[in-house]
Parts: sequence; structure tokens; C-alpha cells
Amino acid sequence: MKIVSTVKELTALREELKGNIGLVPTMGALHNGHLSLIRQARIQNDTVIVSIFVNPTQFLPNEDYSKYPRREEADLKVCTLAGVDILFMPTVEEMYFGTEPEIAAPKNLSYILEGESRPGHFDGVLRVVLKLFHLTRPTNAYFGKKDAQQLYLIQNMVKTLFLHVNIVAGDIIRENDGLALSSRNAYLSEKERIKALALSIALKNASQAIMKGERDAKKVELIMLESLKDLRVDYAKVLSRDFVCKEQIVIKDTILLIAAYVGQTRLLDNLWI
Ligand code: AMP
Repeated sequence: MKIVSTVKELTALREELKGNIGLVPTMGALHNGHLSLIRQARIQNDTVIVSIFVNPTQFLPNEDYSKYPRREEADLKVCTLAGVDILFMPTVEEMYFGTEPEIAAPKNLSYILEGESRPGHFDGVLRVVLKLFHLTRPTNAYFGKKDAQQLYLIQNMVKTLFLHVNIVAGDIIRENDGLALSSRNAYLSEKERIKALALSIALKNASQAIMKGERDAKKVELIMLESLKDLRVDYAKVLSRDFVCKEQIVIKDTILLIAAYVGQTRLLDNLWI
């Protein structure tokens, strides 16, 4: 595995590459969720590039940028064992310039749900993802359904800016007890870890109600809120897969989305119905 930290080195390596290239963008502190994307990329491409970059532009000033978990050594091992060809770990200075065009995510999509509590977050996400696409020119790029709104906005960017990359969506990887894997789970105390199960339980209860025939979106949202009553809930929403509020649930065109605080830690989870 080649480890590169500069754009110059990455560009030189990229020039040599032939065949399909799979890119897995991450912020590190790798877990099995990331690993499942890397494994999928390994199967489907001749070359696998993983990027690890804690992207400052997607954090709001009051967020956890400086304390976001960084586990470089462990991440190197994970990538080596997973057969990654190129690991790109740039510094902020490599990726950003003092003066550069700003990318803005579409307003209607980026100021709801995640965007409502984190205005500007998706501008930063799209900005870094676009840079990574230009640097690596991947055939396939892998993103988790765990960040459903991010995935949708990236798919929208690829479609509307006519980018030549195929976006592959990876299923959400969970602990045995249902907790969706997240680098931010590292912030949870033992007690909080148990409280955090409320998110996946809420999704399960909602999906069971839907399976029994409930189609009223508002009623399903109330079922989720009931399961989340011990947490500070940011949102518990039932939306169509293109992120539009609908009164009625349509099977195969619905996402249940939750963001809630467990202590100081903001967790996300979702379920595709
Ligand atoms: P992050 O390092 O949090 O930016 O995540 C990098 C990629 O891994 C994103 O595309 C995430 O959606 C994806 N990811 C994070 N957690 C999971 C999970 N539990 N299951 C599947 N993919 C995930």
C-alpha cells in the first residue's frame, strides 16, 4: 500500500493507473462500516484508493473538529489488511487554498434535517468530495447509506454537474445489538452506549408498524418519537427517498431518519423502507 500525503504524489500515482478505480472517502477512525465500503471497492475495482481527511469545512465552528477521533496507526493497519492500494492522507493546507470558488449544496435539500442543525455542513461535504473526485478520477466512489442525506446530495451533484463517476451506496453496518457503527460512538460512555440503542429501536418499531399496515407518515413519526423519549431528538422524520415530506408512506420509496443527542454526542440512524 502506498501512503501519500501530498496532491503532487497522488497525481503522479494516478497518472500511472489503468483499469477501474474505486474511491472510498472517509474521515478516519475506521470501523466495520468503512471496511464494508472498502471491501466492496476491492471486489469491484482494479485499484482501491481510500482517503482519510477530517475535513474542516464540513464542521461548524461549535462542532467537534479538533476533538474528532484520529487513529492514524490503527487506520493504516485496517487499510493494509483490506488490500487498499493507495491511502491518501492530506493535510488541510494540501486540500484548501486561501481563495477558491465555493460550492453550495442545493438550498432546498441542504437546509433540512442535517442541514437545519448544521447549516453549511453539506457545502463543505460537497466541496471536499468534488476535490477528491478531481484528484482521483474514480470509476466508482463508495458512500454509506448511514449518511443518507449526504449520499443523496452527492448523487445529485454527480447527476447535475455531469461528473463521470458511479456512486455506489453501501448498506448500514450495525453492532449485533442494532447500534449503527459510527466514529462518534467512541464518545459514548457505557451508559450512553445503552441509551443510544433507542435510535435503532425507534426505527425497528416504526418499520414493524409499517409492516402491519400503517401508512400515515405522521403516526409513524410519533412511534419513533415515543421510542426516543429519553433522548434530545433533533428530528425523527418519514420522507420519500428523494427527501420530500409525504403524508402517506409508499413502500420502496421511504426513508425513516433520526438524529438525536445521547449526552453531548449527536447520532444519526436511518432505515430504507
Ligand atoms: P465518515 O468517516 O464518517 O465520513 O464516513 C465515511 C463513509 O463511511 C461515509 O460514506 C459514511 O456514510 C460511511 N459509513 C459510516 N458509518 C457507516 C456504517 N455504519 N455503515 C455503512 N457505512 C458507513
